[in-house]
Amino acid sequence: MKFINKVIVSLVELMPKPIVRIFANKYIAGDTLQEGVSVVKDLNKRGIMATMDVLGEAIQNRDEAIDAYQKADEVLDVINREKLDANLSIKPTQFGLMLDEEFCYDLVKKLVVKAKEYNTFIRLDMEDSTTTDKIIALFLRLRSEFENVGIVIQACMRRSMDDIALMNAQGGHYRLCKGIYIEPEKIAFRGKQEVRDNYMALLHRILKDGRYVGIATHDSYLIDAAKKMLSDLGTQKGDYEFQMLLGVREDLRDQLNREGFRLRLYVPFGKDWYKYSVRRLKENPQIAWDIFKDIFSIR
Ligand SMILES: Cc1cc2nc3c(=O)[nH]c(=O)nc-3n(C[C@H](O)[C@H](O)[C@H](O)COP(=O)(O)OP(=O)(O)OC[C@H]3O[C@@H](n4cnc5c(N)ncnc54)[C@H](O)[C@@H]3O)c2cc1C
Repeated sequence: MKFINKVIVSLVELMPKPIVRIFANKYIAGDTLQEGVSVVKDLNKRGIMATMDVLGEAIQNRDEAIDAYQKADEVLDVINREKLDANLSIKPTQFGLMLDEEFCYDLVKKLVVKAKEYNTFIRLDMEDSTTTDKIIALFLRLRSEFENVGIVIQACMRRSMDDIALMNAQGGHYRLCKGIYIEPEKIAFRGKQEVRDNYMALLHRILKDGRYVGIATHDSYLIDAAKKMLSDLGTQKGDYEFQMLLGVREDLRDQLNREGFRLRLYVPFGKDWYKYSVRRLKENPQIAWDIFKDIFSIR
Protein backbone atom coordinates (compact mmCIF):
# COMPACT_ATOMS: atom_id res chain seq x y z
CA MET A 1 0.00 0.00 0.00
CA LYS A 2 2.85 2.37 0.91
CA PHE A 3 4.35 1.73 -2.53
CA ILE A 4 1.03 2.46 -4.28
CA ASN A 5 0.68 5.66 -2.23
CA LYS A 6 4.18 6.74 -3.29
CA VAL A 7 3.30 6.11 -6.93
CA ILE A 8 0.10 8.13 -6.59
CA VAL A 9 1.99 11.02 -4.96
CA SER A 10 4.47 11.09 -7.83
CA LEU A 11 1.62 10.95 -10.37
CA VAL A 12 -0.62 13.62 -8.85
CA GLU A 13 1.05 16.44 -10.76
CA LEU A 14 0.82 14.49 -14.02
CA MET A 15 -2.90 13.85 -13.64
CA PRO A 16 -5.20 15.75 -16.00
CA LYS A 17 -6.87 18.68 -14.24
CA PRO A 18 -10.42 17.27 -14.52
CA ILE A 19 -9.30 14.16 -12.62
CA VAL A 20 -7.60 16.23 -9.92
CA ARG A 21 -10.83 18.20 -9.67
CA ILE A 22 -12.78 15.04 -8.82
CA PHE A 23 -10.48 14.49 -5.82
CA ALA A 24 -10.39 18.20 -4.99
CA ASN A 25 -14.14 18.62 -4.55
CA LYS A 26 -13.75 17.29 -1.06
CA TYR A 27 -11.39 20.08 -0.02
CA ILE A 28 -12.83 23.18 -1.64
CA ALA A 29 -16.17 24.90 -1.13
CA GLY A 30 -16.55 25.67 -4.85
CA ASP A 31 -15.43 28.13 -7.51
CA THR A 32 -17.48 31.12 -6.35
CA LEU A 33 -17.78 33.33 -3.28
CA GLN A 34 -21.45 32.37 -3.07
CA GLU A 35 -20.50 28.70 -2.75
CA GLY A 36 -18.00 29.62 -0.03
CA VAL A 37 -20.69 31.56 1.83
CA SER A 38 -23.14 28.71 1.65
CA VAL A 39 -20.60 26.27 3.18
CA VAL A 40 -19.82 28.78 5.95
CA LYS A 41 -23.51 29.28 6.72
CA ASP A 42 -23.95 25.55 7.00
CA LEU A 43 -20.99 25.27 9.39
CA ASN A 44 -22.20 28.24 11.45
CA LYS A 45 -25.59 26.58 11.84
CA ARG A 46 -23.76 23.68 13.46
CA GLY A 47 -21.86 26.01 15.79
CA ILE A 48 -18.59 25.82 13.82
CA MET A 49 -16.69 29.02 12.92
CA ALA A 50 -14.85 29.49 9.62
CA THR A 51 -11.88 31.19 8.10
CA MET A 52 -12.41 31.93 4.41
CA ASP A 53 -9.61 31.77 1.87
CA VAL A 54 -9.71 32.89 -1.76
CA LEU A 55 -7.54 30.30 -3.49
CA GLY A 56 -4.43 31.50 -5.28
CA GLU A 57 -0.65 31.49 -4.94
CA ALA A 58 2.28 33.80 -5.59
CA ILE A 59 1.52 36.40 -8.24
CA GLN A 60 3.69 37.81 -11.02
CA ASN A 61 2.76 41.48 -11.09
CA ARG A 62 0.98 44.29 -9.23
CA ASP A 63 -2.24 43.94 -11.19
CA GLU A 64 -2.61 40.36 -9.99
CA ALA A 65 -1.96 41.49 -6.41
CA ILE A 66 -4.63 44.17 -6.71
CA ASP A 67 -7.02 41.60 -8.10
CA ALA A 68 -6.33 39.36 -5.06
CA TYR A 69 -6.90 42.37 -2.80
CA GLN A 70 -10.25 43.15 -4.42
CA LYS A 71 -11.43 39.56 -4.01
CA ALA A 72 -10.36 39.50 -0.35
CA ASP A 73 -12.06 42.86 0.22
CA GLU A 74 -15.26 41.43 -1.23
CA VAL A 75 -15.06 38.50 1.19
CA LEU A 76 -14.87 40.92 4.14
CA ASP A 77 -17.95 42.73 2.85
CA VAL A 78 -19.86 39.47 2.58
CA ILE A 79 -18.78 38.31 6.06
CA ASN A 80 -20.16 41.59 7.39
CA ARG A 81 -23.31 41.71 5.27
CA GLU A 82 -24.31 38.10 5.85
CA LYS A 83 -23.24 38.22 9.52
CA LEU A 84 -21.05 35.13 9.10
CA ASP A 85 -19.12 33.78 12.06
CA ALA A 86 -15.97 33.85 9.98
CA ASN A 87 -12.69 35.65 9.42
CA LEU A 88 -10.30 35.80 6.46
CA SER A 89 -7.04 33.93 5.81
CA ILE A 90 -4.66 35.30 3.21
CA LYS A 91 -1.41 34.20 1.61
CA PRO A 92 0.90 37.25 1.71
CA THR A 93 2.62 36.27 -1.57
CA GLN A 94 -0.75 36.72 -3.31
CA PHE A 95 -0.56 40.39 -2.32
CA GLY A 96 2.90 40.96 -3.77
CA LEU A 97 5.10 40.11 -0.78
CA MET A 98 7.93 38.87 -3.00
CA LEU A 99 7.58 41.75 -5.48
CA ASP A 100 7.58 44.74 -3.17
CA GLU A 101 7.10 44.52 0.59
CA GLU A 102 5.87 48.09 0.94
CA PHE A 103 3.24 47.61 -1.75
CA CYS A 104 2.12 44.36 -0.08
CA TYR A 105 1.97 46.06 3.34
CA ASP A 106 -0.29 48.79 1.96
CA LEU A 107 -2.74 46.28 0.46
CA VAL A 108 -2.85 44.03 3.52
CA LYS A 109 -3.16 47.01 5.86
CA LYS A 110 -6.27 48.15 3.97
CA LEU A 111 -7.79 44.72 4.58
CA VAL A 112 -6.88 44.78 8.27
CA VAL A 113 -8.43 48.24 8.65
CA LYS A 114 -11.65 47.10 7.00
CA ALA A 115 -11.70 43.89 9.04
CA LYS A 116 -11.35 45.97 12.21
CA GLU A 117 -14.28 48.13 11.16
CA TYR A 118 -16.32 44.94 10.70
CA ASN A 119 -15.07 43.46 13.97
CA THR A 120 -13.36 40.55 12.26
CA PHE A 121 -9.82 39.27 11.82
CA ILE A 122 -7.12 38.61 9.22
CA ARG A 123 -4.85 35.58 9.49
CA LEU A 124 -1.60 35.62 7.52
CA ASP A 125 -1.01 32.06 6.32
CA MET A 126 2.60 30.87 6.47
CA GLU A 127 4.15 29.82 3.16
CA ASP A 128 7.47 28.16 2.26
CA SER A 129 10.75 29.02 4.00
CA THR A 130 11.79 31.61 1.42
CA THR A 131 8.93 33.79 2.68
CA THR A 132 9.10 33.28 6.48
CA ASP A 133 11.21 36.34 7.40
CA LYS A 134 9.11 38.61 5.23
CA ILE A 135 5.79 37.29 6.57
CA ILE A 136 6.98 37.74 10.16
CA ALA A 137 8.15 41.29 9.39
CA LEU A 138 4.78 42.06 7.80
CA PHE A 139 2.95 40.61 10.81
CA LEU A 140 5.02 42.54 13.35
CA ARG A 141 4.51 45.77 11.50
CA LEU A 142 0.75 45.28 11.31
CA ARG A 143 0.51 43.99 14.85
CA SER A 144 2.18 47.14 16.18
CA GLU A 145 -0.93 49.01 14.99
CA PHE A 146 -3.76 46.45 15.01
CA GLU A 147 -4.96 43.64 17.27
CA ASN A 148 -7.10 41.92 14.64
CA VAL A 149 -4.24 40.25 12.78
CA GLY A 150 -2.52 36.93 13.41
CA ILE A 151 0.15 34.68 11.95
CA VAL A 152 0.85 30.96 11.48
CA ILE A 153 3.65 28.99 13.14
CA GLN A 154 4.90 25.77 11.53
CA ALA A 155 6.05 23.07 13.97
CA CYS A 156 8.27 21.47 11.32
CA MET A 157 10.53 24.53 11.25
CA ARG A 158 13.54 24.51 13.59
CA ARG A 159 13.36 28.31 13.91
CA SER A 160 9.77 28.42 15.20
CA MET A 161 10.57 28.57 18.94
CA ASP A 162 12.80 31.61 18.36
CA ASP A 163 10.13 33.19 16.16
CA ILE A 164 7.56 32.77 18.92
CA ALA A 165 9.91 34.31 21.49
CA LEU A 166 10.30 37.32 19.21
CA MET A 167 6.61 37.67 18.40
CA ASN A 168 5.27 37.01 21.91
CA ALA A 169 7.01 40.17 23.02
CA GLN A 170 4.75 42.04 20.59
CA GLY A 171 1.49 40.22 21.21
CA GLY A 172 1.60 37.09 19.06
CA HIS A 173 -1.72 35.61 17.95
CA TYR A 174 -1.15 32.24 16.35
CA ARG A 175 -2.42 29.36 14.32
CA LEU A 176 -0.12 26.44 15.11
CA CYS A 177 0.20 23.76 12.40
CA LYS A 178 2.77 21.16 11.35
CA GLY A 179 3.63 22.92 8.08
CA ILE A 180 2.77 21.70 4.60
CA TYR A 181 5.85 22.69 2.59
CA ILE A 182 8.71 20.21 2.16
CA GLU A 183 11.82 21.91 3.53
CA PRO A 184 15.47 20.77 3.78
CA GLU A 185 16.47 18.89 6.93
CA LYS A 186 18.94 21.62 7.83
CA ILE A 187 16.09 23.99 8.65
CA ALA A 188 13.19 21.61 9.27
CA PHE A 189 12.32 18.57 11.36
CA ARG A 190 11.36 15.72 9.07
CA GLY A 191 10.52 12.86 11.45
CA LYS A 192 6.85 12.44 12.37
CA GLN A 193 7.49 12.29 16.12
CA GLU A 194 10.06 15.12 16.03
CA VAL A 195 7.46 17.40 14.45
CA ARG A 196 4.84 16.34 17.01
CA ASP A 197 7.26 16.96 19.89
CA ASN A 198 8.08 20.41 18.58
CA TYR A 199 4.35 21.11 18.08
CA MET A 200 3.69 20.38 21.75
CA ALA A 201 6.72 22.39 22.92
CA LEU A 202 5.54 25.37 20.87
CA LEU A 203 1.98 25.03 22.14
CA HIS A 204 3.25 24.94 25.71
CA ARG A 205 5.28 28.12 25.19
CA ILE A 206 2.37 29.95 23.55
CA LEU A 207 -0.10 28.99 26.29
CA LYS A 208 2.37 29.74 29.11
CA ASP A 209 2.89 33.20 27.65
CA GLY A 210 -0.90 33.70 27.54
CA ARG A 211 -1.19 34.11 23.76
CA TYR A 212 -4.28 33.11 21.79
CA VAL A 213 -3.77 30.00 19.66
CA GLY A 214 -5.63 28.11 16.96
CA ILE A 215 -4.60 24.48 17.38
CA ALA A 216 -4.66 23.43 13.71
CA THR A 217 -4.29 19.70 13.23
CA HIS A 218 -6.14 16.49 12.36
CA ASP A 219 -3.64 14.34 14.22
CA SER A 220 -5.52 12.56 17.06
CA TYR A 221 -2.25 12.22 18.98
CA LEU A 222 -1.78 16.00 19.01
CA ILE A 223 -5.43 16.74 19.73
CA ASP A 224 -5.40 14.43 22.76
CA ALA A 225 -2.07 15.81 24.00
CA ALA A 226 -3.32 19.38 23.50
CA LYS A 227 -6.52 18.69 25.44
CA LYS A 228 -4.44 17.36 28.33
CA MET A 229 -2.08 20.35 28.24
CA LEU A 230 -5.01 22.80 28.15
CA SER A 231 -6.56 21.12 31.15
CA ASP A 232 -3.24 20.89 33.09
CA LEU A 233 -2.55 24.57 32.49
CA GLY A 234 -6.17 25.55 33.26
CA THR A 235 -6.42 27.47 29.96
CA GLN A 236 -9.80 29.20 29.58
CA LYS A 237 -12.05 28.17 26.66
CA GLY A 238 -11.91 31.68 25.16
CA ASP A 239 -8.12 31.61 24.89
CA TYR A 240 -7.81 28.99 22.18
CA GLU A 241 -9.68 27.17 19.43
CA PHE A 242 -9.17 24.05 17.36
CA GLN A 243 -8.88 24.45 13.59
CA MET A 244 -9.28 21.98 10.74
CA LEU A 245 -9.38 21.97 6.96
CA LEU A 246 -12.62 21.53 5.04
CA GLY A 247 -13.08 17.91 4.01
CA VAL A 248 -10.48 16.40 6.36
CA ARG A 249 -11.24 14.09 9.33
CA GLU A 250 -14.89 15.07 9.65
CA ASP A 251 -15.30 12.44 12.39
CA LEU A 252 -12.78 14.24 14.58
CA ARG A 253 -14.27 17.61 13.70
CA ASP A 254 -17.76 16.51 14.80
CA GLN A 255 -16.39 15.00 17.98
CA LEU A 256 -14.61 18.23 19.00
CA ASN A 257 -17.77 20.14 18.20
CA ARG A 258 -19.89 17.79 20.30
CA GLU A 259 -17.43 18.15 23.16
CA GLY A 260 -18.06 21.90 23.10
CA PHE A 261 -14.62 23.14 21.96
CA ARG A 262 -14.36 26.32 19.92
CA LEU A 263 -13.74 25.04 16.40
CA ARG A 264 -12.94 26.82 13.14
CA LEU A 265 -12.82 25.34 9.65
CA TYR A 266 -10.59 26.59 6.85
CA VAL A 267 -12.92 27.12 3.90
CA PRO A 268 -11.05 27.66 0.62
CA PHE A 269 -12.90 28.58 -2.55
CA GLY A 270 -12.19 30.11 -5.93
CA LYS A 271 -11.11 29.37 -9.47
CA ASP A 272 -7.42 28.80 -8.57
CA TRP A 273 -8.08 25.52 -6.82
CA TYR A 274 -5.40 23.43 -8.54
CA LYS A 275 -2.22 23.93 -6.46
CA TYR A 276 -4.07 23.82 -3.15
CA SER A 277 -5.72 20.56 -4.15
CA VAL A 278 -2.45 18.97 -5.26
CA ARG A 279 -0.94 19.77 -1.83
CA ARG A 280 -3.92 18.17 -0.08
CA LEU A 281 -3.76 15.07 -2.29
CA LYS A 282 -0.04 14.64 -1.70
CA GLU A 283 -0.82 14.72 2.01
CA ASN A 284 -3.35 11.98 1.69
CA PRO A 285 -2.80 9.70 -1.32
CA GLN A 286 -5.27 7.21 0.21
CA ILE A 287 -8.11 9.43 -1.05
CA ALA A 288 -6.65 9.49 -4.56
CA TRP A 289 -6.32 5.71 -4.48
CA ASP A 290 -9.91 5.19 -3.25
CA ILE A 291 -11.34 7.37 -6.02
CA PHE A 292 -9.02 5.79 -8.59
CA LYS A 293 -10.38 2.35 -7.60
CA ASP A 294 -13.95 3.63 -7.92
CA ILE A 295 -13.35 5.10 -11.36
CA PHE A 296 -11.71 1.97 -12.71
CA SER A 297 -13.93 -0.41 -10.69
CA ILE A 298 -10.94 -2.09 -9.04
CA ARG A 299 -12.14 -4.13 -6.09
C1 LIG B 1 -6.81 25.28 9.63
C2 LIG B 1 -5.49 24.92 9.03
C3 LIG B 1 -4.72 25.89 8.45
C4 LIG B 1 -3.46 25.58 7.93
N1 LIG B 1 -2.65 26.59 7.47
C5 LIG B 1 -1.39 26.30 7.09
C6 LIG B 1 -0.47 27.34 6.76
O1 LIG B 1 -0.77 28.53 6.81
N2 LIG B 1 0.78 26.97 6.36
C7 LIG B 1 1.17 25.66 6.31
O2 LIG B 1 2.33 25.40 5.98
N3 LIG B 1 0.31 24.67 6.60
C8 LIG B 1 -0.95 24.95 6.99
N4 LIG B 1 -1.80 23.93 7.33
C9 LIG B 1 -1.48 22.52 6.95
C10 LIG B 1 -0.74 21.81 8.06
O3 LIG B 1 0.54 22.38 8.17
C11 LIG B 1 -0.60 20.33 7.75
O4 LIG B 1 0.02 20.11 6.56
C12 LIG B 1 -1.91 19.57 7.71
O5 LIG B 1 -2.82 20.09 8.64
C13 LIG B 1 -1.69 18.09 8.03
O6 LIG B 1 -1.11 17.95 9.28
P1 LIG B 1 -1.87 17.30 10.54
O7 LIG B 1 -1.44 18.04 11.76
O8 LIG B 1 -3.30 17.28 10.29
O9 LIG B 1 -1.21 15.88 10.70
P2 LIG B 1 -1.13 14.64 9.68
O10 LIG B 1 -0.31 13.64 10.41
O11 LIG B 1 -0.67 15.07 8.35
O12 LIG B 1 -2.60 14.15 9.56
C14 LIG B 1 -3.29 13.50 10.63
C15 LIG B 1 -4.40 12.66 10.02
O13 LIG B 1 -5.35 13.52 9.40
C16 LIG B 1 -5.79 12.97 8.17
N5 LIG B 1 -5.41 13.88 7.07
C17 LIG B 1 -4.42 14.78 7.04
N6 LIG B 1 -4.41 15.45 5.86
C18 LIG B 1 -5.43 14.92 5.13
C19 LIG B 1 -5.95 15.17 3.85
N7 LIG B 1 -5.42 16.09 3.06
N8 LIG B 1 -7.02 14.45 3.44
C20 LIG B 1 -7.59 13.53 4.24
N9 LIG B 1 -7.11 13.23 5.47
C21 LIG B 1 -6.06 13.91 5.91
C22 LIG B 1 -5.15 11.63 8.01
O14 LIG B 1 -6.02 10.69 8.58
C23 LIG B 1 -3.92 11.74 8.88
O15 LIG B 1 -3.51 10.51 9.39
C24 LIG B 1 -3.03 24.24 7.90
C25 LIG B 1 -3.82 23.24 8.49
C26 LIG B 1 -5.01 23.56 9.07
C27 LIG B 1 -5.80 22.49 9.75
